[in-house]
Amino acid sequence: MRIRYRLAFFAPAMILLCATTWAEEGAPVPPVVDPRLTQDDDAYLNRQAQSLLATVDETLAAHPPVVPEPLERRLALAVMDGLLHDVYAPNRPPIQAFYQRRIEQLTGAMEATQVQEGARIWKLYNHGFIVRTATVTLGFDLHRGVAGFRVNDPKEGKSSVPSPGFPIRQDFVERIARQCDVLFISHLHRDHADDAFAQAFIDQGKPVVAPPGVFPNSDLATKLTVLPREAGLLQRLPIQNGARELELVVYPGQQYQSGGPPNNVVLVFTPEKMSFAHNGDQINDPYPEYQEDFKWIDQVHEKYDVDVLMTNCWTNDIFRFTRGFDPKLVLPGHQNELGHPIWDRVPYWGDAEFLKLNYPELLASDYPVLVMTWGESYHYIPAMP
Ligand SMILES: [Zn+2]
Repeated sequence: MRIRYRLAFFAPAMILLCATTWAEEGAPVPPVVDPRLTQDDDAYLNRQAQSLLATVDETLAAHPPVVPEPLERRLALAVMDGLLHDVYAPNRPPIQAFYQRRIEQLTGAMEATQVQEGARIWKLYNHGFIVRTATVTLGFDLHRGVAGFRVNDPKEGKSSVPSPGFPIRQDFVERIARQCDVLFISHLHRDHADDAFAQAFIDQGKPVVAPPGVFPNSDLATKLTVLPREAGLLQRLPIQNGARELELVVYPGQQYQSGGPPNNVVLVFTPEKMSFAHNGDQINDPYPEYQEDFKWIDQVHEKYDVDVLMTNCWTNDIFRFTRGFDPKLVLPGHQNELGHPIWDRVPYWGDAEFLKLNYPELLASDYPVLVMTWGESYHYIPAMP
């Protein structure tokens, strides 16, 4: 009884003492990122992300993108998958810093890079790519990074959580736009159509090519370049204030089926006669019942030589899509789109079984498949004929 009395007496004093010590030392109590966790558990996940991402940075720097993929890269990307499938990942400060640091490094690299031969291809957030040749620089689905994400809680239901600390700063949007000649936006969904990037291109007098319906109810909509969506039509697009022209085909793609949003699948020919295809969120679903777009997908290679295909990794028959374009190199994109609930963020390792994809068949084929992550680049050199 006596001991209990003493503890009861001293415990509040101890707590007060500790609290005073914290306050005196000025140690801020970091806010809990994931409200379902205790302070200590939540803080651990931040320290874990900090430490693992430092190793990821080091590993990716030592093992840049190459085909075939070395085991070190596969493991580094798997570590990223694990961290990015923490529901609250977009709000963890080390993950924000990692993403922003890598895109900032990309910006500096672009400003310092001139291409003599072939193409330098950078990977940005989600399905964002930039392709630079000796004469032109093409941007596809450029995006600042997610500003909010969905949480599916079995008890609380679905909610939307803001992540204002994740996207890159506006000055980097403008610097990246300054390095490009044109922006292609595949469709209206907000993980592909980013108004800040589109506005930066428009402000700099550069074309933003998009299908109908992008940025509805915004002045931006009237400033977009909406080209005919015709599989049989080779079109011309002036860039660099008319100093150069690109040739391109805008295939009439869709996300899902008729009734889904129109999705431009563009095949762009540079003045060097290299060709780059980007497919946005192309998917025909339900599949194989719905076949409409495969009427042109299956035949692209019969008319054109395609160098590089940038394809969403989650399209169901990615192998048939790839065979239709028959490219020299495949760059899968759209991994780890953090705005989605975690089952639908789509990891670098594929998750093909759950998502009913034939991605493993593509990986097992003779097509060179190169997986890149935020801020990385690859120097593509066409093989001699
Ligand atoms: Zn998407």
